[in-house]
Amino acid sequence: MSRFWSTFKLIHNPLKDKRNKKDEIKSTCQDLKCSKCGNTAAKIEIVEPNAYPKDAVNWNIKDYELYEKYRDFSLNYLLYTGPGGSNGYIGDPIDLNRKKAIIDAFTKPYNSIKIRQQFYDMAGFCTMCNKFYCSKHWHTTTSEYGKCPEGHHKSLDPHWSPDIE
Ligand SMILES: [Zn+2]
Ligand SMILES: [Zn+2]
Repeated sequence: MSRFWSTFKLIHNPLKDKRNKKDEIKSTCQDLKCSKCGNTAAKIEIVEPNAYPKDAVNWNIKDYELYEKYRDFSLNYLLYTGPGGSNGYIGDPIDLNRKKAIIDAFTKPYNSIKIRQQFYDMAGFCTMCNKFYCSKHWHTTTSEYGKCPEGHHKSLDPHWSPDIE
């Protein structure tokens, strides 16, 4: 596992214990920080099969019920939030090739082609600067164009969906 990625693991989830169930929170995550302000530009979390994401520690019973209803526990799930959008707290199933490709794309040295293949909004990455920026510093407006602090343009599709590859 690359040193740019962190893993998060918690065996005992207090809320799940109340429901008399033992479940694991286990995921591989990366927070990409804005080079201008240090805020999060994009968040990528890959949740392991039979596991829950990091945020599950803050969930209520309803959140768990919805998650368990829609989540296929045999697969890896991708949770993604970037300047162009988010795929919610349940996320989308991904295969092992995609998992590997995401980890590869977001491990230094960054390759803009690989990054673009993963996410249309490129997780806030500016190819010209070779840096990440948050949505605020992309000066994203209601129009679909953003501009990085150095003035480089990028299209951020507001209808972007991580389902489309
Ligand atoms: Zn910023
Ligand atoms: Zn730039």
